[in-house]
Amino acid sequence: MSNDSVFPLDSEWIVSNRPKRNKIDPLKPYDWIVEKELSFDRKIKDTGTIFLSNKECSFKCLMCDLWKNTTITSTPPGAIINQINLTLPYMKKAKQIKLYNSGSFFDEKSIPFDEYQKIASLIAGFETVIVEGHPRLVNKKSLYFNDLLSGDLEVAIGLETIHPEILRKLNKKMTLQDFSKAVRFLSNHQIRSRAFILLRPPFMSESEGVYWAKKSIEFAFDNGVECCTVIPVRPGNGAMDLLMASGDFSKPSLESLEEVLDFGIALGAGRVFADTWDLELFSTCDTCFDERRLRLEKINLSQEQTEQIKCSC
Ligand code: SF4
Ligand SMILES: [Zn+2]
Repeated sequence: MSNDSVFPLDSEWIVSNRPKRNKIDPLKPYDWIVEKELSFDRKIKDTGTIFLSNKECSFKCLMCDLWKNTTITSTPPGAIINQINLTLPYMKKAKQIKLYNSGSFFDEKSIPFDEYQKIASLIAGFETVIVEGHPRLVNKKSLYFNDLLSGDLEVAIGLETIHPEILRKLNKKMTLQDFSKAVRFLSNHQIRSRAFILLRPPFMSESEGVYWAKKSIEFAFDNGVECCTVIPVRPGNGAMDLLMASGDFSKPSLESLEEVLDFGIALGAGRVFADTWDLELFSTCDTCFDERRLRLEKINLSQEQTEQIKCSC
């Protein structure tokens, strides 16, 4: 697939093609979930995720649809604390908590710096706290937040792809050096990081998508991350739909996700997860879909390869 595009692919174009954002209440998280995850110490633990409602991310990545559940301006003082307070009663059994804010936790316009202390005290009972961070926003604030926590901090960073030209086209305004520097900075302060890896971003064929996802996993581990999550790229944010219509993007297949997960597990370099949200989007066969989903979920929790699914499809 060609790397060239008829579209400008800049922030202005990306934003101008967005569909409407969802109506959200800045005083409530837009969602929450408790699910099982294999922890760093290889135990299956209930893990809560609070999807915080806050000001949209300062970056405007080509493939991102997280802005749909964000606000245009910063939320009122205390709103984030209120959201966490409201949700914690549903997470009593959870040992790990993800505070996912559809952007970077360390972006002050999204999460006020002067609320870190209160946030940390609210989540003092959790063994692990996982937040998202753009590499260019991983800094001393991250260390300060880590110091306030009683549990371990883990920072999830979007590496996306190590294909240099396509990484640039994603408009993430990040280089591979930025990524490496952020991971090293965190490791030097005993903070773990996990990488988000895209499976088949735009301008890649299916086989290129698989190849670059595998390469990106290797790069992430070589640079010191402890965990990788592979995310199949989906349309739905306006820009990606236009790229799909122009033939510059196609959804990856479930089989490709399986192949990349199997590869990552076989490396034995750290935890590798397949993102299974909206998985049916990537399926082309009703007969084997449930089996394939179960297999991915099983591998996510065990980090052990299982026999591949056989189906006439
Ligand atoms: S940095 Fe992350 S949250 Fe922000 S626009 Fe890019 S993908 Fe979306
Ligand atoms: Zn099938």
